[in-house]
Amino acid sequence: MVDCIFCKIVAKEIPSQIVYEDDSIMAFNDINPVAPIHVLVIPKKHILNINYLTEQDEQVIGKIFSTIKTIAAEMGVGDTGFRVVSNSGSDGGQEVDHLHFHLIGGKALGKKIG
Ligand code: AMP
Ligand code: ZN
Repeated sequence: MVDCIFCKIVAKEIPSQIVYEDDSIMAFNDINPVAPIHVLVIPKKHILNINYLTEQDEQVIGKIFSTIKTIAAEMGVGDTGFRVVSNSGSDGGQEVDHLHFHLIGGKALGKKIG
């Protein structure tokens, strides 16, 4: 069993501010937000990062993006805009080794992405 902080959040062994949950995905507020809206959307299944996705994961990835759209609309930034980021591997700046998508918004984010 991997010792993974996001698997522990999924198992409710670590508390989080859950924004959305169903049988295969979960969304919760980032503990260290970089913008007024900063939600992490993850598959419940432990997948290390984008590099470890397989064909079997295509459905859950689709659901993650549909949910990002819904959360952005519910939080009032669907039309004004937001950013989605997934850091993968060491050069990508990934710190938590469980696939996650940052939904960031609530302010003008500017052009810098790297
Ligand atoms: P990354 O650099 O893409 O791996 O980002 C990991 C993110 O997880 C960071 O933005 C952290 O603030 C966030 N994070 C770490 N631990 C927790 C936690 N217990 N609850 C919510 N967010 C967390
Ligand atoms: Zn995990």
